[in-house]
Amino acid sequence: MIAITSIPAFNDNYFWLIHDNNNAIVVDPGLAEPVLYTLDHLNLELTGILVTHHHADHCGGIAELKTKYQCPVWGSSKDNIATIDRFCDDGDFIDIEELSIKIQVISVPGHTRNHLAYFLPNSQQSNNVLFCGDTLFSAGCGRLFEGTAEQMWKSLQKLMDLPDDTHIYPAHEYTLSNLEFAAHIEPDNKMVSDYLQHVSLLRKIGIPSLPSNINLEKQINPFLRIKEPAIQKIAQSNGNATKMNDSQVFATIRELKDRY
Ligand code: ZN
Ligand code: FE
Repeated sequence: MIAITSIPAFNDNYFWLIHDNNNAIVVDPGLAEPVLYTLDHLNLELTGILVTHHHADHCGGIAELKTKYQCPVWGSSKDNIATIDRFCDDGDFIDIEELSIKIQVISVPGHTRNHLAYFLPNSQQSNNVLFCGDTLFSAGCGRLFEGTAEQMWKSLQKLMDLPDDTHIYPAHEYTLSNLEFAAHIEPDNKMVSDYLQHVSLLRKIGIPSLPSNINLEKQINPFLRIKEPAIQKIAQSNGNATKMNDSQVFATIRELKDRY
């Protein structure tokens, strides 16, 4: 059986550790220390590192972990991260022999130009699992630092096409503030207001709101609900075009969130 453990770091990051009680791989270690501590505490050997994109809060700890464990580092060849030594791209499968799992690479440009997500299909080992970095958050999505709204909307649609029961593991605990925005955009969405209450209780006692899942996100995440008439209407009244296509609606909602 595969287990997934959160390693909280910085203000609101999670590095995700995938392990079988012997070997582990880690996604987006922005800092080495909490990873080293967790590996030591759980008595695990680090056998690989996955990188979603080049931001420091996702890569900062790689060099130190690599020196200690001599393990391979997977990521995009286009991101110019010196520590990456196994390049991968959309459609590739990464074979993690030590854990007997194969991880599918999905390219999801938008937050950054070469952002990758990692999908672990269900098996005897685990549920369907997605590590989506700063692309899809619970009740939100990443900011558009390098890509266009059109690219990000396409990337989110790719993730929406994954099975509904896919557990999603984003890199940040932004759920509560995202839900406040979601409630502002869709005040009549009862799922959003109920889930907002639930997550604020969880966060009060320090429990992560993650993982989420695709089915839940389709009901609460305004960025996956671009086709909803209520959201289209808000975009129309805030945007400058009279007739908008879906990616223009997405762009407008993303801008509203940036200013919220
Ligand atoms: Zn980022
Ligand atoms: Fe980040």
